[in-house]
Amino acid sequence: MRRVSVLGATGSIGQNTLDLIARAPDDYDVVALTGASNIAQLATDAVALKAEVAVTAREDLLDDLRDALAGSGVTAAAGAQAITEAASRPADWVMSAIVGAAGLAPGLAVAAQGNTTLALANKESLVCAGPLLLETARAAGAKIMPVDSEHSAIYQALIGEDMDAVERIIITASGGAFRDWPLEKLAEATLAEASSHPNWDMGQRITIDSASMFNKAMEIIETREFFGVRPDQIEVIVHPQSMIHALVGFNDGALMAHVGPPDMRHAIGFALHHPARQHLPVERLDLAAIGQLDFRAPDEVRWPALRLARETLERGGMMGAVFNAAKETALDRFIAGDLGFTEMSQVVAQTLDHMNTHCDHIDAKMTLDNVGRVDHLARKAAKAAVVKRAG
Ligand code: NDP
Ligand code: MG
Repeated sequence: MRRVSVLGATGSIGQNTLDLIARAPDDYDVVALTGASNIAQLATDAVALKAEVAVTAREDLLDDLRDALAGSGVTAAAGAQAITEAASRPADWVMSAIVGAAGLAPGLAVAAQGNTTLALANKESLVCAGPLLLETARAAGAKIMPVDSEHSAIYQALIGEDMDAVERIIITASGGAFRDWPLEKLAEATLAEASSHPNWDMGQRITIDSASMFNKAMEIIETREFFGVRPDQIEVIVHPQSMIHALVGFNDGALMAHVGPPDMRHAIGFALHHPARQHLPVERLDLAAIGQLDFRAPDEVRWPALRLARETLERGGMMGAVFNAAKETALDRFIAGDLGFTEMSQVVAQTLDHMNTHCDHIDAKMTLDNVGRVDHLARKAAKAAVVKRAG
């Protein structure tokens, strides 16, 4: 029996993870499940999977969670600290699928356990604090498996290969909801329009980030941190069908592509079973029926996020934490209706500029506290930029 925990269990990645675990109940002991607002889902899954503990990020919902778990034997807890404690409970495999920078501290707690596998969907932890997370895992002896589909694809294309022979890594982007919209219409894009993805069924925030290409921008940084390649070795290509997830180019001109259906259970299952491959309940592609795969260069006028990610990498230090915090703040304000779709990248650009000139903390030692400080200052700067725009 493998001991497993799922952080962010009530979300899109979390539910896909539980789907795989629930198919083989005799193989897994569920340790901790965590969520935030969706108490009914958290309690239902915790009871069905006989979890030791269920934790909500929201302290105001602890009583609701206790009520929902009454008599089940599952312990209830609440708050950010309780989630990090749940992440520290000894487990063989832990899925990190909380959305946003809130996933960093729990992910670090998993890595610090050593002798475990951290399945990492929470790309924000690599963007905010990649070196800190990787070093924590290395020092403790924990393994990190990428779960983002592109990074799982790169990982798979690199098996048995020599990193010195890698020339470039190409990550694909569907182009999101607005890839074919006329540019002048983008500023008017609504929340509902930005929240529907042509190929993938994901949480709302990452779906909007796909439309703005902030998701791909984050993934450029994630690729740099996880695989240690130079930023100029990382390319983005628009591939509307989302069948090829990434390609690795070698020094003999070969490109190794990873092809599969747009179903996150592949990348999750790969991380769950690695180094073995096991049967997964995903669609088998019929290439003849698909007929053709298309590619085009990304348009940096349409998607300024890509350029901002490269500037972030060039600046170095804790600029990734600034980038993420500014992006999360701008996204919150877009969801709240205070900011237009194209204004999100303007707010991020202004925040990067402001923090670069006014914040010495960016070059401080990368610790959880210092990342938290930079995150806090960047959110403040981003909010000020939003207010300025609204005014
Ligand atoms: P969802 O929004 O669907 O789920 C997010 C999860 O985090 C939920 O369990 C939610 O709880 C919980 N949560 C929200 N806020 C907090 C908080 N402050 N503290 C603790 N937990 C919180 O997101 P996704 O599943 O789409 O994405 C999760 C992560 O995986 C993100 O980092 C995303 O970028 C990454 N990812 C997702 C992919 C996808 O296909 N969805 C693909 C690749 C990467 P509740 O719902 O109960 O409020
Ligand atoms: Mg991805």
